Amino acid sequence: MNSILVRKYNRAVPRYTSYPTVPYWTDEIDTAKWKQVFQNKFEEQNVTNGISLYLHLPFCESLCTYCGCNKKITTNHKVEDEYLQAIEKEWVIYRRLMNQTPVIRELHIGGGTPTFFSPVNLQRLLNFILKSSILHPRHEFSIEGHPNNTTRQHLKMLYSAGFRRISYGVQDNDPEVQRVINRIQPFENVKNATEMARTMGFTSVNFDLIYGLPLQTLESIERTINQTIQLKPDRIAFYSYAHVPWTSRAQRLFDESHLPSPEEKILLYLKGKELLIKNGYVDIGMDHFALTTDDLYQAWREGRLHRNFMGYTTSSTKFLLGLGVSSISDTGNAFAQNNKTLHEYYAAISENKLAVKKEFFLNEEDEAFRKYILDIICKSEVSFSSKHLPLLEQYSFPQLKELQKDGLVELNKQRLTVTPQGHNFLRIICSTFDLYLQRSAKDGKDIFSKAI
Ligand code: SF4
Repeated sequence: MNSILVRKYNRAVPRYTSYPTVPYWTDEIDTAKWKQVFQNKFEEQNVTNGISLYLHLPFCESLCTYCGCNKKITTNHKVEDEYLQAIEKEWVIYRRLMNQTPVIRELHIGGGTPTFFSPVNLQRLLNFILKSSILHPRHEFSIEGHPNNTTRQHLKMLYSAGFRRISYGVQDNDPEVQRVINRIQPFENVKNATEMARTMGFTSVNFDLIYGLPLQTLESIERTINQTIQLKPDRIAFYSYAHVPWTSRAQRLFDESHLPSPEEKILLYLKGKELLIKNGYVDIGMDHFALTTDDLYQAWREGRLHRNFMGYTTSSTKFLLGLGVSSISDTGNAFAQNNKTLHEYYAAISENKLAVKKEFFLNEEDEAFRKYILDIICKSEVSFSSKHLPLLEQYSFPQLKELQKDGLVELNKQRLTVTPQGHNFLRIICSTFDLYLQRSAKDGKDIFSKAI
C-alpha cells in the first residue's frame, strides 16, 4: 500500500454497518410508525426470503480494556435467568406484531459473551423462540464464542440446535498484549476450542483478530497470524482497533504510549494481510478474509454478498430483528435500536412495551445511497441511477475524481469500480456517498465528530 496515500486518506470514517450511520438516528420515538413499518416489511419478506434474528447476550466475566461493545461485567450467573425472561418477553411482543409464523433464515447470537450463559439456558432461549417459528430449509445459525469458556457441552447443544458456524474472539495471541488488554487467553485455549468445534461438526469457524492494539509489534502480529494459519479458520475478520477513550472508558486503563503510531498500525495491517494472502485467504472486503472453500468467498465471487449488523452474510434476507439490550433491527427502510442500559431495557419490557430507544426511517434518497454504499462494500462496484446525478455531481464526484487520480477507483457517470489498490480504502470510498457526512462538510461542520 502506498504510504503517501495512507497518510492522505488517514481519516476517521464510519464502518458503514448502517447508512445513515447511528449518530444520525433520532431518539424521538414514533412507536406506531415503527410497528407499522415492521409489520409491512415482515409480511413482504417473511414468505419470500425468511427473516434474520440477532440475539444480544451482554454479560462477560471480565473486562477487556480495548472493548467498545455493549456489555455488562459480572461473575454472578444468577443474572442469566432475569435476562432470558426479558428477551423471551420481547420476542412475544414482536411475535404479536407478526400476522404469520416467522420463517427463520438466519440466527446469530452475539454479545458480550454468549457462552457466559450455560448450555441449558441457551437451549431454553432457542426452544422458546423456535417453538413459535418455522425453520427455513437453508437456515444458518451462528454464535460468538469465547475461547476461554466455550465448553464441549455448549458446542454439543448448539450443534444439535442447528448451529454450524462459530466465531471466536481471538484478537491477539501475544501474552504481553493480552496482559495489557486484560484478556488472558493462552493459544492452547484457542486451539482446543477450534478443534472441539470442528470435531463436533461445525463447518465454518471464524476468528476475530485486531491490529493496532497496545504493545503489538510486527513480530508479535506475525506470530499471531502464523499461529492462526496453523488452525486454518475458514474466515478471519482482521479489524482495526478504534481508540475512542471518550466513549469507551475502559480504554483509559492502558498507557496510550503503548499504542502503535498510525504509520506503525498500517504496517501491522499490511504484515497481517500479506501473511493471510500468502496462505490462501482472499481479501473479500472491509477487514474480512476467507478461504476459497468458504461460502463467503463463493458469495463474493458471485456478487451475492450482503452485509448487515452481523457482518458479511451470504443469505438474501433483508429483514433483521434484533432482540436484547442495545440490539438493532433493520427492516431495509427503517432502523430501531433498543435501550443500551439493562435497567431501561428491563423497565420497558416489564411494562410490555418495546424497548426501542433510537430510530431512523429512510426516505427514497437514503435507500438509494445506502444501496450504493452496500454495493461498494460487497461488490466493489456500483451503477448509478441517472436521477441521482445532480446529487452525485454535487457531493460525491468531486472527491471521487480525486480518488480516481490516485488510482483508487475507475469512474464515469454511469458506474464506479474499485481498483485493487482502492480495496484498501473502501471506507473512504463509501464516505463519498454518505450525504449526511458530505452535507455537514459543506456546511463547515466537524464531519468526523460523528464518524465513529
Ligand atoms: S471484548 Fe468481548 S469478552 Fe471482552 S469485554 Fe468486550 S464483549 Fe466482553
